[in-house]
Amino acid sequence: MDEEQIEGAISISLEDIENLPQDGLSSGPANKQQETGDSRFSRFSLISWWDQEKIANAKILVVGAGALGNEILKNLVLTGFRNILVVDLDNIEHSNLSRSVLYRPDDIGKGKAETAAKAAMEIYEDAVVHPIDANICFNVGLGVFGWADIIIGGLDNRAARLWINQSAWKMNRPWIDGAIQGISGVAKVFLPGTAPCYECTLNEMDMQLAEKQLRNPCTGLTLKEMKGGKVPTTPTVSSIIAGIQVQEALKILHSDTMIDEDLDGNPILLESAVLAGRGYHFEGLNHTSYITEYTEKELCNAHYVFDPDKLYKLETTSDEATLDDLLQQARDDLGNGLACLEFSRNVIHKMVCNDCDSEEEVFQTMASEEMATCKDCSKERETQWINGYTGEENYGERTLAQVGLPPFDVVTARAEMEEIYYEISGDASRVLGPLPTEQTKHMP
Ligand SMILES: [Zn+2]
Ligand SMILES: [Zn+2]
Repeated sequence: MDEEQIEGAISISLEDIENLPQDGLSSGPANKQQETGDSRFSRFSLISWWDQEKIANAKILVVGAGALGNEILKNLVLTGFRNILVVDLDNIEHSNLSRSVLYRPDDIGKGKAETAAKAAMEIYEDAVVHPIDANICFNVGLGVFGWADIIIGGLDNRAARLWINQSAWKMNRPWIDGAIQGISGVAKVFLPGTAPCYECTLNEMDMQLAEKQLRNPCTGLTLKEMKGGKVPTTPTVSSIIAGIQVQEALKILHSDTMIDEDLDGNPILLESAVLAGRGYHFEGLNHTSYITEYTEKELCNAHYVFDPDKLYKLETTSDEATLDDLLQQARDDLGNGLACLEFSRNVIHKMVCNDCDSEEEVFQTMASEEMATCKDCSKERETQWINGYTGEENYGERTLAQVGLPPFDVVTARAEMEEIYYEISGDASRVLGPLPTEQTKHMP
């Protein structure tokens, strides 16, 4: 790596050691000596900008508990993160054991999210790591993205990355992507509301491959299609890339912290060292690495932000609120009798067989191969999608859950050019379990 590429390099000086920051989590100045001696985080407090309390209070969403996810979680709890949500749908297979520090032979067949969460909490007993056994695209509400201060991805497919990218933009949250193959990998950081975003980084070939998925990446894909092929990965490179990802999370969290002064005495903030809109590539054959600067793509579909001032938290739940209820509220709030609702994602309304003239109401977000075949005549059925409610359709008495939308989701209410957003916050405690439900107002 070029010397020039190491921006904001951080070193420990004797002065730093003499001006130790308060740990914040325990004891006062009288115990400083002891803290620097043998307390759990004493070595971190020697880093001038490190704020253990900030880390303890941060809320992190980890998507994926595979090779990268395991290393991400391990690094998060080792560095003292306490509020972590981990999402994964899969169960542990034998081949996962070679790349997953959190899994044991006895865990084969168990859920990845739950097992990873439990193992991570064994590493750091004060951490709360809560599992969500779900597919991030179909079964996780946008409120989950809004809950998190930082989103870290340990994924193996592009569709899920596109979905996370769009969702992180909507909910105004930074996200850190990681990808590994063989003994090489890349880590990318995307800040909310600041292009380039992940979708901007896709080249022509990526675009062609993902063309169908771009507008709504998770729609119309079956789970099988999303999983793609088996990618060769190693625990060595997953630890390198996940290390960079968690290090970037630490920098984002401390971005308002001063690390130095320039020649004129102006502060240099840690923010300047964040890999924003850039990618760190590690090439394992020769152990070379380089930084890619991404550029904003014109007409990128993903640059859509929910105005935080227009995001309202409704204390109702997705099992209580019907579409008619929400529509009425939208019309009252917007003062417009023609306001309508827009879902966070497309929902399969019906499967229709044109051969035998039969149809089946489905109301779910995820397609499956079985659904495509007519139960009566075995011919292929047509999928009919819906993405909102205008008051005209016949499903207004259904609750959000009965329409197939995930809990803790966000529904858009629109009237002409004006739009507001309803977060179904009554679901928060059900989805977040023992994690704190209050959301951080803004990132530092
Ligand atoms: Zn973009
Ligand atoms: Zn049929």
